Amino acid sequence: MRLFAACCVLCDTRVTGAVSLCRPCLHDLPRLKSTCYQCGLPLENRQEASLCGQCQHASPPIDYLMSSLQYAYPVNYLLSQLKFKRDLTQAKIFSHIMLTTLQKHYSGQTMALPDIIIPIPLHKKRCRQRGFNQALEIAKPIAKKLNIPLSTNTVQRVKYTQAQSLLSAVKRRKNLHHSFTINKRMTAEHIVLVDDVVTTGTTVYELATLLKQSGVKKVGVWAVARAVNKKDR
Ligand SMILES: [Zn+2]
Ligand SMILES: [Zn+2]
Repeated sequence: MRLFAACCVLCDTRVTGAVSLCRPCLHDLPRLKSTCYQCGLPLENRQEASLCGQCQHASPPIDYLMSSLQYAYPVNYLLSQLKFKRDLTQAKIFSHIMLTTLQKHYSGQTMALPDIIIPIPLHKKRCRQRGFNQALEIAKPIAKKLNIPLSTNTVQRVKYTQAQSLLSAVKRRKNLHHSFTINKRMTAEHIVLVDDVVTTGTTVYELATLLKQSGVKKVGVWAVARAVNKKDR
């Protein structure tokens, strides 16, 4: 039998673990520490409450945002490899990292896990172009491991929008207006949205607002990476 060995996607060292990223590279990824419970942005003063000033002032439509990594190099590079080079091994890496964060977070906590997981959908046309939805690929192993149903037909992306990464924050908000529709009656009370990266938050905020209008009580977000620098948001 031939043993499967892969190379680290960042430094080419041979790796034999579940993901194709070596331990030192995995360890060096830019992690997020001490973030606002609701929007996931870093808290300026570690002593302050778990909410940032902005969320205390105006509550966003999501109830919480959990993210593992900062959207910075090499996370942005790995995410672009996944999306544009269709390298699905990156999805595995991200699911693994996300799961580690979630397991740490939920173990020994009274916080409830969601009733269903909804990966942020892509428009049909974009999904055809890309061949897969990266959010779904990241969400699949997480849903399986945590034993939470994954729904891919509850929400549909109805507006084919320009790539968000090319637009400013203001244009992103306009670009995304009325992007989603809900296909069926919502029965779940607590939903979590999964995405690869949250930049301005516009996408998850829009979908969360829609879900809440349909009767969902709690909407959380699990994102692999969160943009924390103004230039990335
Ligand atoms: Zn490496
Ligand atoms: Zn906040």
